[in-house]
Amino acid sequence: MLFHSTRGKDTNKTFEDVLMQGLASDGGLFMPNEWPKVDLKVLKESESFIDVAKHIVPLYTKSSFRDDEVIRLLDQTWHNFESEELIEIYDIDKDLSVLELFHGPTAAFKDFGLQLAASFFNMTLQKQNKTAIVFGATSGDTGSAAIDACKEFDLIKSFILIPEGNMSDIQRKQMTTVNKKNVFPILANGTFDDCQDIVKKGFKERSFLRDGQYLLAVNSINWVRIIGQICYYFYSSLKINKFSQPLNFSVPTGNFGNVFACYAASRMGMPLSKIIVAVNSNDILNRFFRNNDYSKKSVNETISPSMDISVASNFERLVYDFYLDRDSKTCSNLYNQFPIKNIQISENLWKKSKDLFLSYSVDDESTFDCMKFYKKNHGYIMDPHTAVAADAVQKLNNEIINKTIMLATAHPAKFPNALESSGISLDKIPYSLKKVLSKKEKAYELDTKDNSIFNFIKENN
Ligand SMILES: *Cc1c(COP(=O)(O)O)cnc(C)c1O
Repeated sequence: MLFHSTRGKDTNKTFEDVLMQGLASDGGLFMPNEWPKVDLKVLKESESFIDVAKHIVPLYTKSSFRDDEVIRLLDQTWHNFESEELIEIYDIDKDLSVLELFHGPTAAFKDFGLQLAASFFNMTLQKQNKTAIVFGATSGDTGSAAIDACKEFDLIKSFILIPEGNMSDIQRKQMTTVNKKNVFPILANGTFDDCQDIVKKGFKERSFLRDGQYLLAVNSINWVRIIGQICYYFYSSLKINKFSQPLNFSVPTGNFGNVFACYAASRMGMPLSKIIVAVNSNDILNRFFRNNDYSKKSVNETISPSMDISVASNFERLVYDFYLDRDSKTCSNLYNQFPIKNIQISENLWKKSKDLFLSYSVDDESTFDCMKFYKKNHGYIMDPHTAVAADAVQKLNNEIINKTIMLATAHPAKFPNALESSGISLDKIPYSLKKVLSKKEKAYELDTKDNSIFNFIKENN
């Protein structure tokens, strides 16, 4: 299995190339050359999440690693979860369940993709006798999950830019209290967009790297993160009905990585009814699915900050695979003109959307209302991101048949202000978060407007 770019220039890439490179050199996103098919009869015999992963992950890694190496790696990949099963499924009623993906060490679903990425980074670096710098910006949960996943690997140093803005204190403290020699949380005086610009510039410039050193991208366009997430869609379908009925998944989304993983699972053979694309008031995806209007607008700050985006990077993969049937020329044309020109799909192709997708945009007020509704009527406490997915299900109820699974992407304890505003109190918070609260913060304050950040990485490299 090899990989190629959605824009057609970068082709015949191995799993390892794609892992270490992140973004394709033509600006596109990597895709597998074909969709590997999963034998559901065999997968049905699996018990645990790791058993499932052992059937899924090797389908993508054969160009670089032997299956027995990958199986061994998977046994050690997901760690420090507070649930033995890694994932819990909470039934609201017979037609609606919550897939709790927040039992990992950073209390958000990003642990699934990033722990897998870190394992493969480390195996590759060991093999090649090299080191790497992880360099990224975070608006919430990516930074902490990346830091946590990489911190025990001495071959990797992590430099994560923390912008000014909307992230919760706990989210920040998860990054600033790690206290490891190879972890550098940077409080940058700028917005998330300023920080992302610096990261982009860093990936071009690379002046702070040592000879032969890798610069690794941990944002959600990295294909290995998608693989980690595909595994939990198969796992939940297995647990809920052994693949006997197609399910709906309601996914609270920003960069479309989690939705794309669901789509990928269905292309690999998982029975699927509908994907509910649930967004906050940053509604570019909702405008596309409802009006064929994918146009960039400025970012609104919401109470679900990990979904505050102006564009949804992984959406390019869906455009390429689902709408354009892998026509990289058209994909490349659309994206080379974006955002100056909106992305619009020709009407007859766009109409396919409703076979597979429903969408809804949920504002902050409805998010609060939904959190209160579930607490009051079901005794269930959810975080604001999860509530966006839950509210979308309620609003679209008349259009939904089959059982629905909503994804709980973060533990509610990560967002105490939102809980307080909803009049909800939590009696139990995860150990990993409790630990963070009592530790002293240590971070580096640096300027986004000059070369301080690049100089800082160089000095500490
Ligand atoms: C990152 C994140 C999301 C959005 O995920 P995408 O893959 O970018 O769509 C949703 N909820 C939480 C809690 C997150 O951290």
